[in-house]
Amino acid sequence: MNKYGVKAKKGAIWSDFSVRFILRNPIYSGKNRWNWRSPVKRKAYTGAEIIKEIDQEGFEPIISEELFRETEKRMKERSYMAFRSDNYYPFSGVAKCAKCGHSYTGPFKKRRSRTIYRFYKCAGRCKFGICDSQVVVEESIENALLGMLELAKTELEFEDKNYYPTVDKNEIEKQLEKIKEKKERTKDLYIDGDLTKDQYKKRLEIFQEEEKELLSLLNKVDEDANIEEIKEILQNIKNEWHNMSYESKNTPSIPFFKV
Ligand SMILES: [Zn+2]
Repeated sequence: MNKYGVKAKKGAIWSDFSVRFILRNPIYSGKNRWNWRSPVKRKAYTGAEIIKEIDQEGFEPIISEELFRETEKRMKERSYMAFRSDNYYPFSGVAKCAKCGHSYTGPFKKRRSRTIYRFYKCAGRCKFGICDSQVVVEESIENALLGMLELAKTELEFEDKNYYPTVDKNEIEKQLEKIKEKKERTKDLYIDGDLTKDQYKKRLEIFQEEEKELLSLLNKVDEDANIEEIKEILQNIKNEWHNMSYESKNTPSIPFFKV
């Protein structure tokens, strides 16, 4: 849904939590639920959960009871495979407080009007009591990171255009092969006595000089390819960020968090 631009409550992006909440809420199949114990709220449990049909004339549920049960069943099956991902905080220990230099750490969740916010707190404030930084909403760190990715891409493009001429790798390799052949032929001429030692040496030096130039061009082509790859990686991270689970955001395969 994030991919298609469909917004959650208050224009927020969809999180795994909000999707799970909807899938588990029987209201969509036309049932009211009381005494439900939220996994986040942890409020006192007052008796068993009550689920009752909505008694209202002309009321039509959005989904069938059957579909709701089936969804419940599948979620139960899948819960053994996947672990809850809302406990992963990718910026924890990586984002540093600008005021005191201590790490921002999660998880800290705050509920405000039934919406869950993912927060980071400065360790300098909450552990050592030496800082007065405010808590930071995860989304603002994410946005800053995505902005930086865009910046990095622009810089790469700038370098690309200015320092690297467009050269064809195959063409260079062909030329290198030709020089090799020429060297062989010159050697034959020298052996046959058609060239003096000095003439042979001079020609060899010219070929070696040409070879050196071509090899350095070849290196640049490789660097060029690397830049293209990096640009693609940056673009992919940017495009897929909101679809990534918190686990994958946390993997060390994204080197930017280490910087
Ligand atoms: Zn701080």
